[in-house]
Order: sequence, then structure tokens, then C-alpha cells
Amino acid sequence: MEINNVVVIGSGTMGSGIAAQLCNANIPVTLLDLKTEISQKAKEKILHSRPPLLIDKSKIDNIKIGNIVDNFNVVNEADWIIEAVVEKIDIKQNIYEKIFKSRKKGAIVSSNTSSIPIKILTEKMSKDEKKDFCITHFFNPVRYMSLLEIVKSENNDLNKINSLKFFCENLLGKGTIICNDTPGFLGNRVGVYAMQVAMTEAFKLKLSIEEADSVFGRPMGIPKTGVFGLYDLIGIDLMVDVLKSFIKELPPSDEFQKVAKEIPLVKKLIETGYTGRKGKGGFYRINKTDGNKILEAINLETGEYFVSKKIDIKSDKVDIKKLINRKDKYGEYAWSVISKIIKYASSLVPEITNEFNDIDEAMRLGFNWTKGPFEMLEEIGVKNFFERVDSFENNKFLENLSKSKDENYYGERQKYTDIETLGKIKPKAIKLDKHDSAEIYRFKDFNIIEFTTKANTLDYDSMDCLKKATDKPLIIINESIQFSAGVNLNYIMKFADKGDFKSIEKFIRYFQETCKHLKYCDHPVISAPSGLTLGGGFEVLVQSNFVVSHTNIVVGLVETIVGLVPAGGGCKEMLWRWSQTEEAIKDPDFAPLKVFDIIGYAKTATSPVEAEPLKYLKPDDKKLMNRNCLLPYSRKILEENRDFKSPKECKFNLSGKEVKEKMIKILEKLYNDKVILDHGMEVGKELANVLSGGDTNLGKEISEDELLKLEFNSFMKLIESKKTQERIKHTLQTSKPLIN
Ligand code: NAD
Repeated sequence: MEINNVVVIGSGTMGSGIAAQLCNANIPVTLLDLKTEISQKAKEKILHSRPPLLIDKSKIDNIKIGNIVDNFNVVNEADWIIEAVVEKIDIKQNIYEKIFKSRKKGAIVSSNTSSIPIKILTEKMSKDEKKDFCITHFFNPVRYMSLLEIVKSENNDLNKINSLKFFCENLLGKGTIICNDTPGFLGNRVGVYAMQVAMTEAFKLKLSIEEADSVFGRPMGIPKTGVFGLYDLIGIDLMVDVLKSFIKELPPSDEFQKVAKEIPLVKKLIETGYTGRKGKGGFYRINKTDGNKILEAINLETGEYFVSKKIDIKSDKVDIKKLINRKDKYGEYAWSVISKIIKYASSLVPEITNEFNDIDEAMRLGFNWTKGPFEMLEEIGVKNFFERVDSFENNKFLENLSKSKDENYYGERQKYTDIETLGKIKPKAIKLDKHDSAEIYRFKDFNIIEFTTKANTLDYDSMDCLKKATDKPLIIINESIQFSAGVNLNYIMKFADKGDFKSIEKFIRYFQETCKHLKYCDHPVISAPSGLTLGGGFEVLVQSNFVVSHTNIVVGLVETIVGLVPAGGGCKEMLWRWSQTEEAIKDPDFAPLKVFDIIGYAKTATSPVEAEPLKYLKPDDKKLMNRNCLLPYSRKILEENRDFKSPKECKFNLSGKEVKEKMIKILEKLYNDKVILDHGMEVGKELANVLSGGDTNLGKEISEDELLKLEFNSFMKLIESKKTQERIKHTLQTSKPLIN
């Protein structure tokens, strides 16, 4: 079965997200709604979406639009028709009737419903029609949430379902899991239960919402929005609708019912317009007093708002075992929540799926959890878990495990895919070294580095790992979404606060030395980025010999925002890339001025298509839609480069003072126009000094090391300045830039 033409009916949040992802995969798609104006508006929304739904905005017109009356004939030509209209059974069924009258024989018809069972959606369909109908449950935002659940019924032609899975996996880049027709399928059944448990236990154990979010967040390997933050993000009213649907669909005996009961505070919030971020606020709100924006958090007992308190439970790493063993209320809360999630998820096997592994993967792909419930159980340890857990009647999975006591019950990872992913390789690889900031794996004849810090920020230890791992061909890749958000600024500031600039010098020198070593060592080094690839993260990438990039990356050199200049070779490499262009051959100042513009404005790209014109990525870097394919493709490159020879060092000819003056002129204009202030001027001047080559002229050849020295000197000068330190502190506290 080939899919060359798709129609999406319903151009709301999901329909437009799905159409955009089809457009990203270069599949012709038509988006229909009740009126053409609605789909036209949807197209505009796609174009201006943040984060962007399109990889390449110039392709927006590849999404055709229309309405379901005048343009329904497009259905005749489609290989796949996706219904994504409002969650109303009769409306959906009417649409199917119309589709089946017009569709090409054998074309697949699917619904994006999140709660209506297939048996209800298909109740009016003929046997032949049922054969080609399934649910394709995408997650929002479609480009960024990997999970796609394909829900099948006993009527389906399995070959067709499998080829749809193949298409969605390989062309749309989705982590595609086939599941049974049960309420909430896999992701939402466990994910929404987990949210409800996290919420009800916070009430029960009298935790503040900030406390609950600080536990049910990064320490548990869950996104930092936590539970109350996530409620606000999704919309408190929408969550109530989701819960109503679960209450209706699930039997009264289901444990879900216990945590889905209406909570008076939630009811009050909705009644008063506190529906979350889209409304006046929710559990959290922003209070604007005297022009200041203050984050407030609700008191779960009184319903009053107070200035939100930052809670630091001093657990920066995902360590479930340590977390549940804490002898404080956070440990008690964590155990209570985690054990309930494990009990519930395991009670659903085999009803919702035969593969418990699929539940873990659905949580990873659909909710960005680092570990699913069964992996959490594995980490806690079977013996430990049963020593502590209370009852688990009628839970066949736990009953069996309590008898077998098999600590190695877990087996293979990511069973839903045939792709040889990083997740599958890791358990088979040898862990070479245990570091704090990265993990080195040896697999066959190559090494893998996976960064392990928050947002995979880099420090001395990360550099140590990179260096050590170059004794073999090396692939730098992460299971967590971000490649690296750059150098760990907290780490830098710890030294700066003590006035210990010698330690910062030592780190920067090592950073430079390591990145340069990546480029010139005897073995090939491949970076396989996805997500944030910023600052120092980009400097690692740009000095790797090959790049295999996911199409969802945010890449750029953003150091100037925090009052610094790239000092790990970023300026040098960007200069080199731009000096290879035709314009640069004609005009020696072209490259430095171009790079001055890119780094000075801290320009970022949100996809490879945006990254190439800035030369953050090269045309021959590989770009892939499916993250799971990054490792196999990197291995293919290693295979093809067995006789790898490291590149020759670059030499630069820069005009020094001449081009620096041009840059200063640009800065002066920005300063006079008040686009930059005093410190912006200082940072700009340092950048100008680096990119002009310092004290040089066109007749002089300068080496990479000389450029690195300029980067180093400017970085150190800036980090020692109070105003740069103020910028860094401000950004660390608020995630926003400080203009000073
Ligand atoms: P939405 O309200 O944003 O969009 C629905 C669209 O359907 C609207 O543009 C509406 O004009 C259109 N529509 C209504 N009746 C129609 C008809 N007869 N013909 C053509 N168009 C019609 O809804 P949504 O959030 O995009 O949800 C769509 C589906 O996806 C629902 O089944 C929902 O349960 C499911 N879903 C939603 C999410 C989510 O996060 N929003 C996630 C997964 C699944």
C-alpha cells in the first residue's frame, strides 16, 4: 500500500498539526473544514505557530485547503483520509458515511479521536469499510510529540495496519505503537491516571503545588512542568472533560475511578475562569502589580494565591530509588505516587496490551517521561518493591512477578519498532566509565557518548568523557530530547561567584582542546543532535566530522545573550564555513561580517532547513524525520568511513583592524538607535575582536589555535565583568535575557 496523497478533515489544533507534519514529509495533503475560511485560518496559524509546526515555512502552500461541501471530491483521490473533527460521535459518523461513499477502493480511513472506541465509531460501517478503518491518535503538538497510537480492531486487515505503521514511522517520523481498542489507549490511560494520582496525593499529603511539581518532575524523569503546571498547560476545563470520558468508559471497579472524582477546588477554578494558561491562570497565575509580573501559586487548602516559592529538593538527577528512599515528605509523596502508577499500569496488562514495554514507550514518546512505570519498577528492584508495596490483588502481572522474583524481568526495550535504536543498543553495550555528566558505552568497535545532565549542559566532566571516548570511532547521541543546551552556566557561575577565574580558565582551555581533538583525532566523530543544540552544544557538533541531525532541532550560537562570546571554537568554525563561500573569495571581509551578524544577534534555527542558510548545518549533513533512526544512520556512516583520515587544519586570512572598524560602525549605529546598551557594546566589541582576527592583516596567515586564543581572551574578559555575570544570573533565574 502506498500513501501519496492524504486528506485531513477538521482543521483545528490536531488536523492542522497533522497536515503540517505531512507537509514536513513532503506528502501532498488537503485540509478540509466546514468552511474554507476556517482551513485558511488554520493555515495561517500553522505558519505562525510557536514552536513552529513546519520544518520549512516556504512549503506552506503544499497544504491545499477547502471545505467539505465544495471540495469533498479530493477524497476520491486520497490514499489515506484522516478525520480530526470535534469529539462528537454523530458528526464523526456522518463524515465516515460520506467518505466511504467517495473514497478510492482500499483507501485507509482513520480518526484522531482520543476517547471514542473504534467499536462505536464503526457501528454503522459495513464489514469491508471496517476493514480499512482504524484510529490514528496523534499527540499535540504533532511535530514535536513523537507518539502515534494506531488503534486496530479485529476487523482490520493487519497487513494494511502494518504498512500504515511503516509509513508513519519512516516518513512521518512517528514513534508508532499499535494498540487495542480500550479507553484512552496506552498513553492517556496511564498518563492521565498518573497526573490524577500526583494531584490527589498532593492534596492527601498536604504538599504545596510547588512541592508536588518539584517531585513529580525532573527527579522522577518527568518534564519540569510537573502535575499542576501541566494541568494549567493542557487547560483545567479540558482535563475535566477528559476525566468525564474516562469515568463513563471505564467500569466502576477500575482504580482510575478513585482518582478521577471531581475536586471542589478544580470546579471552583473553572467556574471563576481560571482554566489554566489560556484563561486567567490556573493553579499558577501571573499577577501584574505595579508593572511587575509576579508568579503566584494557589494554596490547595484555602484556594488563595501566594507568591510562588521555588522549591529545590536537591535532586537534580533522575534517581527514582534515591527519591523514594528519602526520609521526608518528598520521599513519601514520591513512593506513594510511583507505587500507585506501577500498580495501575501493571494491572492493565494484558487487557490494554500484551507488551508492558509498549506502555513504557508510550509514556516516553507521548509524555516525555525518561522512564515508564515498568522501568521505574526495574530501577527500584523487584525485591525492594515487594518489601514495601501494600496490596496488589487481582493484579496478575505483580502476582507473577512476586513469585518469580525475577530482577531481570524487563528484557528488550522499544519493542514497538524494528529499528536498532539507542535504547535497544544501550543494554547490550559495555558501560566504560561512570561519570557525572555523561555516559560512555562501547558497542562492537565504536563508542557512544550520552550526556546525562539537566538539558545535557556541558562541564569539565563532559569534556573528559568526550576525550576519553575518542579511542574508537565515536557517536555523540542522547535518548533524552536535547542534544545539549550548551555550557552549564550554573557551573561557571559557581566559580565566578567565588572569584575563582582560574578554574573557569582551566575549563575553557579544556573545552577548546577537547572540541579541537574531536575534529582532528584519528577516528571519525559523529554528532547526532535533536532538540536544543545551542552554544557549547553546537561547538561540539560543529567540530564533529559528521552530523546526523533530527529535523526537530533548535541550533545556534547564543552566547552573546548572556554577555559572552563562543569560546569552544564556535567563532573559528563559523568563520571557516563562511570563508569557503564564493562571496568570501571576492571579499575578504564577507565571512567575518556575516558571522558577526549571526553570532552577534544570537540567531537560532528551528529546523535543518533554517540552519543551512546560516551554515549551522551543511547540505551534506544528514537530516532525518525519525529520531530512532539517528543511531542506525550514524553507524552506517562509520561503516562507510572505515578508512577515515582526519581533516587538515584550517588557516585563515583576516583583515584585522579593517574589518573590526566596520563591525564597530555597526555597533555604534545599534547603540545610537538604543538596540543595544553599554554592555551590549562591550560584548559586540569583543566579538568583533575575535572575528576580525585581532592584530593581523590579510597578508598574514592565522592558525586555528590563534583564533581559539582570541576566543579565550574575550570570554575571560567578559566573564570577569559584573554586567555579564548579571546577565547570566538573570537568565538562570528567569530564562529571559537581560539587556544591560
Ligand atoms: P478543534 O476543536 O481544535 O478542531 C475541530 C475542527 O473540526 C474545527 O476546526 C471545526 O470547525 C471542525 N469541524 C467540526 N465539524 C466538522 C465537520 N462536520 N466537517 C469538517 N470539519 C468539522 O479539535 P482538536 O483539538 O483538533 O481535536 C480533533 C480531534 O482530535 C478530536 O477527536 C479530539 O478528541 C482529538 N484529539 C485532540 C487532542 C488535543 O490535544 N487537542 C489530542 C489528541 C486527539
